Amino acid sequence: MAQLSDRLNRLSPSATLAMSQKSSEMKAQGIDVINLSVGEPDFPTPDNIKAAAKKAVDENYSKYSPVPGYAELRRAIVAKLKRENQLEYTVDEVMTSNGAKQCVCNAVMALVNSGDEVIIPAPYWVSYPQMVKLAGGNPIYVNAGFEQNFKMTPEQLEAAITPKTKLLILCSPSNPTGSVYSKAELKALAEVIKRHENLFVLADEIYEHIIYIGNHESIAQFEGMKERTIIVNGVSKAYAMTGWRIGFMAAPEWIVKGCNKLQGQYTSGACSVSQKAAEAAYTLDQGCVEDMRLAFERRRNLTVKLAKDIPGLEVNVPEGAFYLFPKCSSFFGKRFDGYAINNASDFAMYLLEVGHVATVGGDAFGDPECFRISYATSDDNIREAMKRIKEALAQLR
Ligand code: PMP
Ligand code: GLU
Repeated sequence: MAQLSDRLNRLSPSATLAMSQKSSEMKAQGIDVINLSVGEPDFPTPDNIKAAAKKAVDENYSKYSPVPGYAELRRAIVAKLKRENQLEYTVDEVMTSNGAKQCVCNAVMALVNSGDEVIIPAPYWVSYPQMVKLAGGNPIYVNAGFEQNFKMTPEQLEAAITPKTKLLILCSPSNPTGSVYSKAELKALAEVIKRHENLFVLADEIYEHIIYIGNHESIAQFEGMKERTIIVNGVSKAYAMTGWRIGFMAAPEWIVKGCNKLQGQYTSGACSVSQKAAEAAYTLDQGCVEDMRLAFERRRNLTVKLAKDIPGLEVNVPEGAFYLFPKCSSFFGKRFDGYAINNASDFAMYLLEVGHVATVGGDAFGDPECFRISYATSDDNIREAMKRIKEALAQLR
């Protein structure tokens, strides 16, 4: 019988995308579902960025671009890294791909050998372990739970490192928790990393601009760290451009060259028109970024306030991204109307089927006691969704 490869059989589908898909199917059946599952800004792409894309179509940006992206875009990214992160990169140390997702995958594929260990603090973004498995590596999870504000300590990192450790994947501001590592915390992690010669860090900074505690800090800023850091970022979240599919990597040139070789065989350069749109995003007026950040901050405050008002949930206050990751384990073992809640997936499914609110169970993020709410939606949707969640949970006995 025809069989998929072992490689594919080892892979789990994306839980975030699966939950979003399920909520769309329910909507198509006429059920009024509020979708707080997938993490993407609800805003349209700003007009000046759209105008740049339209111009690019008219100017016939319709051919293959260079594999790492147009030089103009890479120059705009180099300028962004200098302006916003005070980091010096050359154009050859930057490459663009189909979203930050492909950048993460490129980096993992380029660095991880079969049997190598990759440290992933849990909770983590769903795709990291799957990409590591695809590369034949072993994900090593470090539990950084609710009680430690979902942040890994330097001691935990040190304890997880073995001679086989190749990479650490660090996401700050974090999906799914919204936690943000401070400059001092990053410096302490950097000290540990520097003690281990063959260890690299993939710094996923895609939520850089969605932050509520001042400026984002990059681990690449510390002495001796740029050589070991692969920064991944992109336009999806900051500029409401998820569908345009442009992400970038900034890393030592030999890593970028390796990823370039991989991408040249795999997908080629990213969409030409989207690259021109991303170039506009990085070079035009940045006012839209702050406008959206302010909206997310207001929604964060609203969601936290309403969640804290739901008996049985434990809620921390996220400092970035647009997710809340409350602890829901006090509901495990409870029932209502044929539904039994034994874990976070049951919990999320109950909220979807009974409350008609789509969220994602924490299991997929490596924390089986919590669930994720994306509050990248209107205040009205947030109010209605939290009301439904409260009512659905009140029925559980
Ligand atoms: N990293 C994290 C932590 C994310 O949440 C996402 C979500 N989309 C990505 C990377 C990928 O972003 P992109 O849309 O640019 O592929
Ligand atoms: N990163 C977003 C999320 O976590 C988008 C979905 C995905 O790419 O997994 O919901």
